[in-house]
Amino acid sequence: MQYVSSLRWASFAVMFALVFACGSRAESNRAQASNADNPQTSQQKPQQSSSKNKTSMTKVVKPDSEWRKELDADEFHVLREKGTERAFTGKYWDNHRKGVYKCSGCGLELFSSDTKFDSGTGWPSFWQPIAPENVETETDRTYGMVRTEAKCARCGGHLGHVFDDGPKPTGLRYCMNSVSMEFVEKK
Ligand code: FE
Repeated sequence: MQYVSSLRWASFAVMFALVFACGSRAESNRAQASNADNPQTSQQKPQQSSSKNKTSMTKVVKPDSEWRKELDADEFHVLREKGTERAFTGKYWDNHRKGVYKCSGCGLELFSSDTKFDSGTGWPSFWQPIAPENVETETDRTYGMVRTEAKCARCGGHLGHVFDDGPKPTGLRYCMNSVSMEFVEKK
């Protein structure tokens, strides 16, 4: 009798464990699905950050199908597929006018002409973003190299790479793709 009772308890415990495990999996799948599918609403609040220096910038999140409608082929390739335009072919590498360079994906201000310099590379180059929180960096290990990728902090669009061979005062070179930016002249 005791044996039967133990068996009953054991099978109850196994069933409970199974139900619990499936529940967790379903919850996790739901979370992933909502991350991937929801961005139709296109705006998403970032999680609260403990760092005082981080702003509560509203992120722009859209599926590729949406970006394809809004961007031309070159913009989509560079911004969303981390492409690189050919040197000396972009519209801004030799631009010397005064103004602000905005993200061609979401319009966030990225760089000021005040920090633009002639790097001789054929890509528009800056020694500093217009605001540190507007350009994010991330380690990029593609093509057998370790580089620092620069991204728009609002829409995550690929902008280019950052190197440490820039001029003073920062010593940085933000090597950007013209196609990732829209220049707005200030008179
Ligand atoms: Fe952007």
